[in-house]
Amino acid sequence: MHDDKGNWFPNELVEESNPNYIPKRVQVLIDNGSKAECKCCYSKEYLTFDHVNPTSKGGKDDNNNGQILCSRCNSIKSNKFISIKKLRKLVK
Ligand SMILES: [Zn+2]
Repeated sequence: MHDDKGNWFPNELVEESNPNYIPKRVQVLIDNGSKAECKCCYSKEYLTFDHVNPTSKGGKDDNNNGQILCSRCNSIKSNKFISIKKLRKLVK
């Protein structure tokens, strides 16, 4: 993939800049019954896979430890192990 200046960049970056792009791991959560929206602010754009208990804090890298957050809420949550209720207060 090349931009209009001829610079090469990976397709993944193009997909991530699309607000409606659903990453594969998010799609798996949706297939398992999650709503296709941010669990915190209900946004349906820029959805990302979040580890409920961050892997840096010993959380497992599997779907049972996964939830859907938009990229904004995910960046605010960062590597904290907090409930959605607390995260909503931080996001506001
Ligand atoms: Zn959100």
